[in-house]
Amino acid sequence: MRQVLQHLEQLARLTRGKDRDSMDATLVEVLLPLLEARSVVLWEALPDEGQDRLLTRARLERGMAVPQSSAPWVPLADLPRVDDDPTRAQAWRACQTRVIAGEGEARLLVPLITESERRLLIEARLDHAPATQSVRVVEGMARIFENFINLLDSSERDTLTGLLNRKSFDDTFFKATQRDPAPADAPGEQRRCHGPYWLAVVDVDHFKSVNDRYGHLIGDEVLLLIARILRSTFRHDDRLYRFGGEEFVALVRACDAQAAAAAFERLRRNVEDYPFPQVGRITVSIGYTVVREHDTPSDAFERADRAVYLAKAEGRNAVRGFETAVQIGEPSPQRGAERDVELF
Ligand code: GH3
Ligand code: MG
Ligand code: MG
Repeated sequence: MRQVLQHLEQLARLTRGKDRDSMDATLVEVLLPLLEARSVVLWEALPDEGQDRLLTRARLERGMAVPQSSAPWVPLADLPRVDDDPTRAQAWRACQTRVIAGEGEARLLVPLITESERRLLIEARLDHAPATQSVRVVEGMARIFENFINLLDSSERDTLTGLLNRKSFDDTFFKATQRDPAPADAPGEQRRCHGPYWLAVVDVDHFKSVNDRYGHLIGDEVLLLIARILRSTFRHDDRLYRFGGEEFVALVRACDAQAAAAAFERLRRNVEDYPFPQVGRITVSIGYTVVREHDTPSDAFERADRAVYLAKAEGRNAVRGFETAVQIGEPSPQRGAERDVELF
């Protein structure tokens, strides 16, 4: 009975989290004592050009005060490969719980796949093989965790593409842009590239004619593929949204204006070069702006949207920055004809 009450309490803790990060942390906090494990890690597999990478969503080791996770500014290529550990890779492939017991140590692997096809893996390292009962409890917790992730996803994500939806924009914008800067002891390369956030609005060119000529189903397929190109163009911690219709938004981190422009130009080219089945060539127009201190999501969006308007007016299949292309030519509202040039 005492154990049942304990498990109920752990479940209540697990489902108290209101966002993904706190749920991940609570999961490892609940599982470590439950299994009397040395460590518990929640991994996520991120696709990276055919070879999946391992992102630490949360890790807790015996003696650690709070769980840790992969630093958001670590480039995907610096993360370990899933295939580096064949046992882990196999557990994911078979989508089955595995217990591997050796001399004085054991591993428990419990894979999870969410409805949005995100692949997660709970990995516990223990002093000895866990009791069957404990494995069942962990599997039960894993299923409940999975259900909660699915619930969270269904309110935050667009059903067609799996990208974040417009409703979640304000929250995720503030969370991302108010995040702590990189610690002073971060390696040089990481610190150097810890620049501001940039917000881009991406609008598909002449999308109405895709629907008119090929039908809505093919149109939807194009939107799905564009979402995939967005994911593969940006980093794992960049926030990508579908704002409804054929309009996407990207909130990305870049060292400076040049790096931001290069990233958005890469997206424009990746879309242009992609052979869309049946339709062939599709292009996008992109407008972007730097996220300012104390910016509101709607102000930043409006500036990027004005830059898209310019890209459309100048012939489409183009990238324009608000600060360089829109603002530079505009008279300041406060100072009449005097130019309010903001360069950085
Ligand atoms: P522009 O280059 O000026 O952006 O032209 P456009 O045709 O892309 O722009 P417009 O805003 O006139 O049309 C957007 C079209 O997107 C209208 C609608 O048929 C289509 N659309 C909106 N949502 C969806 C969707 O969920 N699926 C599909 N297949 N089409 C959609
Ligand atoms: Mg549009
Ligand atoms: Mg359009």
